[in-house]
Amino acid sequence: NQSYDDIKRMDRDGVWHHLTQHSVFEHKYPTIMARAAGMNIWDIDGNQYLDAVSGGLWTVNVGYGRERIANAVRDQLVEMCYFAGVSGTIPGALFADKLLSKMPGLSRVYLSSSGSEANEKAFKIVRQIAHLRHNGQKHKIIYRERDYHGTTISTLSASGQEERRGQYGPFTPGFVEMPHCSRYRSQYGDVHDYGERAARELEAVIQREGPDSVGAVILEPITAGGGVITPPEGYWKIIQEICRQYQLLLILDEVVCGVGRTGKWFGYQHYDVQPDIVTMAKGVASGYAPISCTVTTEDVFQQFVADPADRMAYFRDVSTFGGCASGPAAALENLRIIEDESLLDNVVDMGAYLMDRLLELKQRHAMVGDVRGKGLFAGLELVSDRHTKEPVAEAVVAGIAADCMAHGVIIGRTNRSFQKFNNTLALSPAFIANQRDIDAIVDALDAALGRATGPV
Ligand code: PMP
Repeated sequence: NQSYDDIKRMDRDGVWHHLTQHSVFEHKYPTIMARAAGMNIWDIDGNQYLDAVSGGLWTVNVGYGRERIANAVRDQLVEMCYFAGVSGTIPGALFADKLLSKMPGLSRVYLSSSGSEANEKAFKIVRQIAHLRHNGQKHKIIYRERDYHGTTISTLSASGQEERRGQYGPFTPGFVEMPHCSRYRSQYGDVHDYGERAARELEAVIQREGPDSVGAVILEPITAGGGVITPPEGYWKIIQEICRQYQLLLILDEVVCGVGRTGKWFGYQHYDVQPDIVTMAKGVASGYAPISCTVTTEDVFQQFVADPADRMAYFRDVSTFGGCASGPAAALENLRIIEDESLLDNVVDMGAYLMDRLLELKQRHAMVGDVRGKGLFAGLELVSDRHTKEPVAEAVVAGIAADCMAHGVIIGRTNRSFQKFNNTLALSPAFIANQRDIDAIVDALDAALGRATGPV
């Protein structure tokens, strides 16, 4: 029976926070969130907020307080919480079957418990295939500037965000960067074929490194934390062609975009592309249980079973919490809710409404340089001069986010973006958002932008 003051003291004195720069060093000590329902959340002092970022990091996709998921997890924990090693689990099988029904062309699901782990598994598959099939060649993995793939040393080695890589070097060898694909920050000026040119950068990197040494490329369908960068027209078709030509495995990191966020089950399904490996985490169980997946084609899977001598390679990886039955139990119920409530349709409808309203903001606030997004996933890149596209100072972005929060709406910020400034705001409300919710979010943002600049 601790008092709230005691809890705040324990948090302040004992917890090493994530993302503390957003609060500890800029404004005040992190808020402690205590209770939530639907899209609303209350802090320990009883202040209410409308959550426009689905749990801070685009995760609680079906909203808070879902009894169906809570009951599915509880029932599974009582039935059998965990087993791994010599067995599968019932929810693991049911979830894999249902997930694969949403992913034509893919056929195997590996379970783990975080996005980083799911990406590490993908990298290990590439390295194993290099050993099994290419004599150790084709081991390099290309990643893209601005993309992010996780917190571990190897996933950071594959992340194109200097601000996240920070002081963690030396990095894992064999990861090579290719340029970003933000048309707004075009590297080639105002060209009509931006998408194709940006995609051809992949080929340039392959040629530079030597085609025999490169085995895979990992990309986010929409770069999330690096600035909500939607792919330019024509991009994916060329990427796919290059992957086929040079026999690269195409790994898509759907940790943010996956499981409905963009209005289709997976972000890549909007585009002309078929991946070999897809990773996902965050919204897989909407934050009710930690679970992530690495999903592969039958072709990738067969590399490990075709020859009896290779079979040990298939089993070599053991993730303890891949055997945790509550994760797939929660994830299965999450998928059922999205289906039963037709939430993908709502993401499409409300996403279009959100985009319309944000484009209105762009007309009224000179600071809004670019508005991008897909489904219920949107970014506003803020500039101090629309002509030069000079990013606003980081403190301005932080101030707008803090202003919205002070007025009861939690919005997100992406990581430091172009030219090393953090100048993009991110919105990713839960799939249950209605027009009133979107209006409340955009109105708060409108007011905060007005206080920051005054209307044009
Ligand atoms: N990939 C992407 C695109 C992400 O945004 C994140 C998390 N922000 C990760 C991977 C890593 O996931 P996790 O934090 O669950 O390890």
